[in-house]
This record gives sequence, C-alpha cells and structure tokens, in this order.
Amino acid sequence: GKSRVVVVGGGAGGATAARYIAKDSKGEIDVTLIEPTRHYYTCFFSNLYIGGFKDMAALGHSYGTLASGGVNVVHDWAVGVDRDAKTVSLAGGGVVAYDKLILSPGIDFVDGTVDGWDLSAQNAMPHAYKGGSQMEVLKSQIASMPQGGTFAMVAPPNPYRCPPGPYERVSMVAHYLRANNPTAKIIVADPKPKFSKQGLFEEGWADHYAGMIDWIGEDFGGSSVSVDPGAMTVTIDGEVTKVDACNVIPAMKAGRIAELAGVTDGNWAPVNAADMSSKMDADIHVLGDACAQGDMPKSGFSANSQAKVCANAVRGALTGSKVFPAKFSNTCWSLIDANNGVKVGATYEATDEKIAKVDGFISQTGESSDLRRATYEESEGWYAGITADMFG
Ligand code: FAD
Repeated sequence: GKSRVVVVGGGAGGATAARYIAKDSKGEIDVTLIEPTRHYYTCFFSNLYIGGFKDMAALGHSYGTLASGGVNVVHDWAVGVDRDAKTVSLAGGGVVAYDKLILSPGIDFVDGTVDGWDLSAQNAMPHAYKGGSQMEVLKSQIASMPQGGTFAMVAPPNPYRCPPGPYERVSMVAHYLRANNPTAKIIVADPKPKFSKQGLFEEGWADHYAGMIDWIGEDFGGSSVSVDPGAMTVTIDGEVTKVDACNVIPAMKAGRIAELAGVTDGNWAPVNAADMSSKMDADIHVLGDACAQGDMPKSGFSANSQAKVCANAVRGALTGSKVFPAKFSNTCWSLIDANNGVKVGATYEATDEKIAKVDGFISQTGESSDLRRATYEESEGWYAGITADMFG
C-alpha cells in the first residue's frame, strides 16, 4: 500500500511538514496530522495582542484548508508511540500506523522550577507561553491592575522557546501601561545574566518607557525567586513584593509525547541536522521547540524551516524523490513600541554534528525611525507568509 506519514502536533513545525509532504507527494503518501485543537492560536504576535496591536481572532488559524489539501486531520491527543509496531495511540482510543513519524509537539514545563508555582496556579499567575486562553488571562489581569500597580515577570532559564519573547512582552506590557496606567511599575526577575537583543531592548526601554521597567538579572538575585499565587507576592533574593499581575514563565522541555516516544535525552530530543531524524530512531523525526539540534533558536521561523528540510528528506526516503542539501534560516522580530521593530537572524547548514550557524545579522542601536518601521512591516509580511505556509 501507500507509505504512511503521521505528524503529531499541528503547529509551526508539524503543520508545515504535513502540508509540504501532502502537497509535494501528490497523493503518493498518506499524511495524517494529530492535533487536539480545532484552532491554533499563534504564540508569534501574541505579545502584540497584549500590547493592543492585534486581536485574538487574528491569531487563530483552522485546519480546514490543510484537510481539503489532502492531509487527514485528526483532532485528538497522541498518548503513546509503539516504536516496534510503528503505531501511535490516541487519547480517544484510536491507533494509527506509520512508516515515518514526525513529532512537533512544542514545549511543556519542567516541574518545580519556580518555587511556589505549578500548573494549578496558571490562572492566578499565567505563563502565557502557549497560545490562546493563557494570553487572554494575562491581558485581562494587566487591564485590571490598579493605578500605580505592579506587574511582575519571572523570566525563564535557557534554552526556551522564543529567546526575545519575554522582553518583547515586557515592551508590550509597558506600551499598554504607559497609555492606561502610566504610574504602574514592571519588575522582571531573570535567572539569566543576559538576554537576547538586550542592548536593543534596554535602549528602547530607556527611550520609550523611562523609569517603568526594573530588570533584575542573575547577578542581582534574579535567579533566587519564589512566588505565592494565593497572596499574589513575588520574593526576589529575599525581598517580598506584593504584585497585581504576575507572569511566571517556567523552565521548558520537549512536549511530553517526545518523552513518551523515548526519543528525549534530558529535556530535549536530539536530532541529526541533515534530515531532523531522531538520534534514537531513524523513522522518527523531531521538529521545532522539542528538538535539540544545535545553533538555531527555538522559534516558529526555525520550526517552519526545519519542517521543510524534514519534509523533503521524508519524501525522498519514501518515494525516491530528490533530496536537497539541508539549509535553514531564522529571523526573530520584536516590537518595542508602535512601528519600532528590531530583528536578529541567521542562516544555518547541516554538519555531521549539528545545525551550524553560517551567517548572522542583528538590528543596531540608534537606528532611524524609518528603518524601525520598515523592520516592523517586514515582520507583518513574515506573519502572513508563515501562516499561509503552515495552513495553506
Ligand atoms: P507549536 O507551534 O507549539 O505546536 C505544537 C502543537 O502540538 C500544538 O498545537 C499542540 O496542541 C500540539 N501537541 C502537543 N502535544 C501533542 C500531543 N501529544 N498530541 C497531539 N498534538 C500535540 N517564534 C517566531 O518565529 N517569531 C516570533 O515572533 C515568536 N514570538 C513568540 C512570542 C511568544 C510570547 C511565544 C510564547 C513564542 C513565540 N515564538 C515566536 C515561538 C514559536 O511560537 C514557537 O517556537 C513555535 O510555535 C514552535 O513550533 P512547534 O511546532 O515546535 O510547536
């Protein structure tokens, strides 16, 4: 019979891989996508939702076009992988057989990384690091802060999805508060000594949100943090602060199904750069945030780029079609204030050891407002492009 590809996770990596394999194999390969949600709400641009630049509906995407394009979309959770039988079991009771399995489940959180916080506290102190409802909770809590109140963020340790994401979020929270609650304060407790695009963010915070943002890095006690979601307090290096909204972003690991499939080593799933195949099973590929691949940051752009390499390799393995040498790219844009965009990016190639960086670029401090506006407009174009690439 026909070769069967099963994709778990319909996000940046999985939707792209499913769509490309179905489209390019022209019916030669059966592609099944397992994804529990009917609407995928992008994390990318969700900070712009918090800043008031996007509404939630604009971030939601459905799977109808993928399905009419030939992908068998199954709305269910994958709950187990039998690597000998080459089957995936579903929460609803079904079992799906594969020749090649692609896992792109995104992230889950590492338990116990922020003292006092666990998933049962995510409504009092949202992580807002998965799309949709968590973003809405965080935004409503920011909107409900009393005048002059305090917003706190507990930033995550490396590696995590979207390295500039927490700092773009701080910018967008500041943007919202400057207009609606100008005497409010923002405190960031960060377990890291430095962060992505730090010089650009710090310049932007000083120029646009002077006096509002207090970033407390590792060297100043930012790694010694506990929270009390009942009392709404945050304790940083022994000092207790009463807060009005609190965004706790815990340490991350590969989505749990990667662990259940037995393809993780520690928190992440190691892969071969040339085709994104697991180092533990040649018939399983792992994409996006869940994999350990080398130099690429965990981003939607990276997951999409890896998915195209993987789709090409999987199709080649199953149908004998031509396989091109792996090339990857990524850009992470961040919005600091209205029409003030910055970016960092690079191109990558596959070596025997890892996905290795070839060339990079980054926005500069002191850029003209025209350039910053052009960078922001570029990010809008990217959003339209990647969502069309994922969902058709
Ligand atoms: P995801 O896109 O998270 O997809 C995983 C999917 O798998 C989900 O739909 C989930 O429902 C499904 N799933 C999980 N477990 C199972 C299971 N057992 N069975 C079936 N399905 C399952 N990236 C950028 O490139 N640019 C940005 O500007 C950007 N901004 C960001 C801002 C924020 C605030 C955040 C949080 C992230 C941002 N990112 C950005 C990062 C980006 O969202 C992720 O890196 C990207 O989504 C990773 O793709 P993925 O396929 O690995 O996982």
